[in-house]
Amino acid sequence: MSAPRSYDAIVIGGGVSGLIAAAYLAKSHKKVLLLEAEDRLGGLCAPANLGDGFSAARGAPTLYALDPVVIRDLKFARSGLRFLTRDLAMVGLRSDGKHIVLSRDVHDTAASIAVHSPSDAQAWPRFHKELFEIARAMRPRWWEARGALPMGDACRSLDTIARTSATAWLDSWFESETLKATLCFDATAGSVSSLEPASALSLVWRAAQEMSGLQGAVMIPQGGMTALTEVLVKTATEVGCELRTGVRATRLILDQGRVAGVQTESGSAYFAPVVLSATPRYQTLSELAPREALSIGYGDALERPISPLTEACIVMKLRSAPAFGGIAVPLASRFILAEKPEAYIAAEMTSRGGAIPDEIPMEFVIPTWMDSSLAPPGQHILSVIARPLPLLRFEERAGLKTLVAARVVAALEKFMPGISREISDIEVFSPGVAGYPIRVPSMLADAAHRIETPIEGLFLCGAGAEAVPAISGRAARIAASFAMKGGR
Ligand SMILES: Cc1cc2nc3c(=O)[nH]c(=O)nc-3n(C[C@H](O)[C@H](O)[C@H](O)COP(=O)(O)OP(=O)(O)OC[C@H]3O[C@@H](n4cnc5c(N)ncnc54)[C@H](O)[C@@H]3O)c2cc1C
Repeated sequence: MSAPRSYDAIVIGGGVSGLIAAAYLAKSHKKVLLLEAEDRLGGLCAPANLGDGFSAARGAPTLYALDPVVIRDLKFARSGLRFLTRDLAMVGLRSDGKHIVLSRDVHDTAASIAVHSPSDAQAWPRFHKELFEIARAMRPRWWEARGALPMGDACRSLDTIARTSATAWLDSWFESETLKATLCFDATAGSVSSLEPASALSLVWRAAQEMSGLQGAVMIPQGGMTALTEVLVKTATEVGCELRTGVRATRLILDQGRVAGVQTESGSAYFAPVVLSATPRYQTLSELAPREALSIGYGDALERPISPLTEACIVMKLRSAPAFGGIAVPLASRFILAEKPEAYIAAEMTSRGGAIPDEIPMEFVIPTWMDSSLAPPGQHILSVIARPLPLLRFEERAGLKTLVAARVVAALEKFMPGISREISDIEVFSPGVAGYPIRVPSMLADAAHRIETPIEGLFLCGAGAEAVPAISGRAARIAASFAMKGGR
């Protein structure tokens, strides 16, 4: 019999979060094993299989929430992670050509909004200031393990926002359908309904993020999103993590109620006094924890996702540069296709019924406009996030990928006539599982609440343990710090 393999810590899941957690632990001289079920690392940031000369991630076109502390601690800049643009503008596309451009410059933005509504243009600077102020006041809560909630005016505003849906909150500020529909997209991250109270808070969370020192900025790394995975794999390897792919964790091994290791699909057992799981809470506790652990009495920890909604990433290879029907738009932008707030509600209702909506709200970027190295000369990549969608179990329904792709291309055709003829390949990716349920109490709770579990030595480190799921690494950083203290 081979000797049991022992580590100081085991990390389940080799996406961005798992890699960050593993790197933190190994940097502190812990002997770390990371187990990844698939045969490649990166999770949703792993490369899409697009063929020679093209580079895009399977599930995430932009960065807006990568933790500045992680960037600094793990020395990403020294490993070569650079950003292409200062900030991507947000462009709400309209079929009549009156696009709305929301940029970092408040006055330019107000001028763009004024075409649609002079009163909204007047309200914009106040909205922007209030949003960014509350967001900054929330940072300790969202950025630290046990950060405090804000006091005073910010607390009063927060109290209102936490009870208000994104739709209602934006209605209270603005009248322009285009403006509201454009802003609404960010409130639906993680498959949240724009009618849910937590969705207004999602907008605040988004504004609390910071990229390269810029509050609320959206960026693309040089070399594309897969560059982040490459940097992380390099960092984790250099600090001595043992990274194993093609190994699925199937069971947590417990010893007197405390985590003691992990069993894998092939029957191997690995032992460690701490385990960090990048899989969602319900999956970690109900699928990986042994049945007897249920008697510990943490019913609420087993909450399954109630959302039947998800999102998809659609990546296209284009033979030539796409053209916006002669209309000038800033190329370093993320483009939103949703002309009215009702578009989200209609798509949600259809998706809840299990069907693919005719019109799906979506965001797309063309990273090759900013980094031509991501495609062969003259060719381009266009990456779309489409949501809300019903759970997409591609293996169970033939033609589903084709249907989603057809709906997305039809929507793009309205703004970029002839684009369908330029597409040489199209890939549709979706997690195939329900979105993490975001709830107000969980968003307002401290990070420790989302990271700790009722099982001693077991911590959650994935995007499901963030206030809003995104490529952040914040939960991973905090989980690693808890793990290094050895317990709860
Ligand atoms: C369509 C879509 C678009 C998105 N776009 C963006 C975006 O543009 N920007 C952004 O910031 N965020 C975006 N997000 C959110 C973001 O991609 C995720 O929140 C983030 O990538 C999650 O990283 P993670 O490492 O926590 O999880 P994942 O990337 O999901 O990685 C988890 C890993 O764990 C592995 N695993 C699971 N179970 C086991 C097991 N039992 N044993 C071993 N390994 C296991 C999986 O194979 C996977 O590799 C998007 C999400 C989706 C679905």
